[in-house]
Amino acid sequence: MIHQCAVIAYGFRYYYMPGLKHILSTFTLIPHRHRCSYLPSPSPSLVSLSSSFHLPNPDNLSRFLTGNCPFFKMERSWSGSGVNKNKAMVEHLQHYGVITSKKVSEVMETIDRACFVPDGTPPYVDSPMAIGYNATISAPHMHATCLQLLEENLKPGMHALDIGSGTGYLTACFALMVGPQGRAVGVEHIPELVVSSIQNIEKSAAAPLLKEGSLSVHVGDGRKGWPEFAPYDAIHVGAAAPEIPQALIDQLKPGGRMVIPVGNIFQDLKVVDKNQDGSLSIWSETSVRYVPLTSRDAQLRGW
Ligand code: SAH
Repeated sequence: MIHQCAVIAYGFRYYYMPGLKHILSTFTLIPHRHRCSYLPSPSPSLVSLSSSFHLPNPDNLSRFLTGNCPFFKMERSWSGSGVNKNKAMVEHLQHYGVITSKKVSEVMETIDRACFVPDGTPPYVDSPMAIGYNATISAPHMHATCLQLLEENLKPGMHALDIGSGTGYLTACFALMVGPQGRAVGVEHIPELVVSSIQNIEKSAAAPLLKEGSLSVHVGDGRKGWPEFAPYDAIHVGAAAPEIPQALIDQLKPGGRMVIPVGNIFQDLKVVDKNQDGSLSIWSETSVRYVPLTSRDAQLRGW
């Protein structure tokens, strides 16, 4: 059953589009079927856009969808299997200049987003989607942006940490990039999301890496990082911190890079480079809207 609601578009970048920036926007999602590229059996999902917004999670009632971006309508423009639709999503991100890296497009084509969204949720629409527990899977353009910012720190053999790993989508992408000699670690504080993210990864092209052990997902408070596999070449934080947690800075390798949204209502996606002498170079990539990096209780209460 689909419940009507509106959500804050978390995991989202504000695009500079005169007239469209910060516009309240709503759309309708009509059920259809898609196929995860790694699973033989199709699962039901949604798609197609028009004029009011439906989501499957009743716990996300009464939130507002904010912002807008040029990709909302892209789902309408292709047809075919889930594999082709995932590829078409990546091609649209390339077309709009969001993805410029060949490696990132290969990885996003290989890891089918349909394996990671809840049943009944449209996998290829460029928007964040509710995943329960007041959390969202970030929009494809945000995943692409973060992968590109971290690309040089996700070479084979490197160590990557994904804080607030949610559905496991980015952790799976990281694992593919660092390969079996590397290490991709997800940390998520909602145990149910850790369980479902592992099931998602098992359906995806990253399943062998999970089995071999170079990819793992853990229940924990991401503000403390995950010291076991530190130091990390790449750290991604998928929730907005009021300030950059010291533990994450400590677990970043010299030469390493962290991408982290910082702020409360107004948030910037910060890129933190740790220099060889241990000093930090920090710059803002773009304005964003993410769920808070907070305690489990605060999140479940709705902050
Ligand atoms: N990047 C993920 C999820 C983004 S939503 C994806 O795209 O699928 C942000 C996630 O951060 C949520 O799953 C939320 O539960 C988690 N989170 C928030 N605060 C946290 C904390 N202190 N420690 C670990 N995870 C946290």
